[in-house]
Amino acid sequence: MLRLMQRESSRRGAPVLSVESAIGRGAFAILIFTVLSARTRDETTIKAGRRLLAKAPTPQKLARLSTAQISRLIHPVGFYKTKARHLHALAHKLISDFNGKVPSTFESLTSLPGVGRKTANIVLASAFGKHTIGVDTHVHRISNRLGLVRAKTPEKTNDALDRIIPNKYKKKFNMPMVAFGQTVCTPLHPKCSECPLTEGCPRIGVAKHR
Ligand code: SF4
Repeated sequence: MLRLMQRESSRRGAPVLSVESAIGRGAFAILIFTVLSARTRDETTIKAGRRLLAKAPTPQKLARLSTAQISRLIHPVGFYKTKARHLHALAHKLISDFNGKVPSTFESLTSLPGVGRKTANIVLASAFGKHTIGVDTHVHRISNRLGLVRAKTPEKTNDALDRIIPNKYKKKFNMPMVAFGQTVCTPLHPKCSECPLTEGCPRIGVAKHR
């Protein structure tokens, strides 16, 4: 299923699939990008992330920027003023509590400003190869439409997926789902007639589709 999603969304040029080539695989870059990406289109996040990382490729350099400078660099990502405050504080906490390195445990990551469960799980999976699933709105929506889980919130979807998805697939789960959600199983009017999963999908909660 994940392979089919990846192939179809790659053919359709899903924006999220260009993230890795844009920002690389370093833990700090992945953390910054994931914090920036909330409620923001990937195309905008990639540009903002690149501008910020060009000026501040390390926590030490980020800590030297003021909140106003960070705001200017990441504008127009969603909630850029709040994110600028979080990133400024996050850089200082990485230096004071984690020796200037991105930590590799869930508890440590979620102690950082602006880092919640979704961001921590994405960083753990992408940067450290841990068996975690980052559940955003795409993963939540598609998992429920496919009937993999029946859950009302992303947090509950995360709990349910943690129970049923074998460890070896967890770290690979987020990216194909997000890409598929951007291109085929979109929030409104999913393209069910063009979907490679259409035969086996119960389309739970889908009122209108193409
Ligand atoms: S058949 Fe429709 S609802 Fe099911 S995964 Fe495909 S696009 Fe989504």
